[in-house]
Amino acid sequence: MTTLRASGLPRIARCPGSKIHPQVLIGDDHPLANTGTAVHQVCAEAIAEGLETPGDLEPYLHAHGLTDFIDFKILCWQALNVWRPIWDSLRPIAIEESFERELMPGFSITGHPDILCETVDEKYLVVVDFKTGYKRSDYDDQLMAYLWLAWEKFPEYEMGKTIVIWCRDEETEIQNVSKAGVDGWEGRMRVKLQSDDIIPGEQCAFCPRWHECKQGHEFTRTAARVFDTFKAEAKNTPPTASDLALLWPLRCVLNSALAKYSTMAKALITQEGPQPTGDGKLLGIWEKEFEKIDAAKAIRAMSDILKHKPGTDEVVRNIPGLFKISTTDFKNAVRVNTKSGKGAAVEKAMEQLRAVQGTYKEKHRELRAQKPKK
Ligand code: SF4
Repeated sequence: MTTLRASGLPRIARCPGSKIHPQVLIGDDHPLANTGTAVHQVCAEAIAEGLETPGDLEPYLHAHGLTDFIDFKILCWQALNVWRPIWDSLRPIAIEESFERELMPGFSITGHPDILCETVDEKYLVVVDFKTGYKRSDYDDQLMAYLWLAWEKFPEYEMGKTIVIWCRDEETEIQNVSKAGVDGWEGRMRVKLQSDDIIPGEQCAFCPRWHECKQGHEFTRTAARVFDTFKAEAKNTPPTASDLALLWPLRCVLNSALAKYSTMAKALITQEGPQPTGDGKLLGIWEKEFEKIDAAKAIRAMSDILKHKPGTDEVVRNIPGLFKISTTDFKNAVRVNTKSGKGAAVEKAMEQLRAVQGTYKEKHRELRAQKPKK
């Protein structure tokens, strides 16, 4: 029996051959996936305990090895902000519970919806899924699978509902689904699973078989060839918006291959130390210190420096710690507000922020090639 994860069904729907388990499973410890897992855990625990806001987030940061605390914190707050208005109409019945069900001989589906609820009138069985990536439109098969899995255990509900909470976009997508709708999805998915067609595309970026799939590799090589000549060709024949849109699947696959390379290089270089790149440099994990702006402390001084009209600070005062201000954007804003002596104005503005403890130092360790120090 092959067990397929509900989260992999959007990929399998596009490339049915990707349902075959890889001969060698390579772990994918991507920072974005870790952030998603951590946000899911925070939300599930907050909802189980009836909390309206997240508790102490620091322990999750270390447990999941996250580096961008502010992004993580914003996502948790946004997730619960979007959840709050729909909370009163729902009653949780299971949180992160795992389900498994046979779809057809030889294939079963497994999955754990973030939260399973019923509406307060007990009519609807509701699947809630928090998404921490940017809004996409290919999650339907995953949500339908969750509903199909849960309905087997809770057959008493007349209707189903799927709710996707897009934490980054602070949006909710709600869809009512009848039992007949889920039956129709089940039939379509069975037909898909009968096929072994290998169809490369954007989905190769998330495929656990990519490392052993010829078609996936060829698609990635095509992407590398296209982008190798892209700059020169775009200069001679400027592409149209629709030309660029057609390149999107190639870009996704190339991005994913590069992310995999970086993850692997970081792990090995951390273990074995800096290595020569063959062009006189050393590839290593080097530490670099950045000056960051503490938005909550800096904002009032900032409105004076930038000569902003009153009002901005009111907003910020109500949600301290939830603002992220880019040092580069701030410096650019000072430059735009200064007619002459822009460099000196930037330095003076930074000094003014430092005087109110409006900046702090943060060290990043990043994979980079640099000339060896003498
Ligand atoms: S790598 Fe791409 S083409 Fe190959 S099985 Fe996976 S999704 Fe299909």
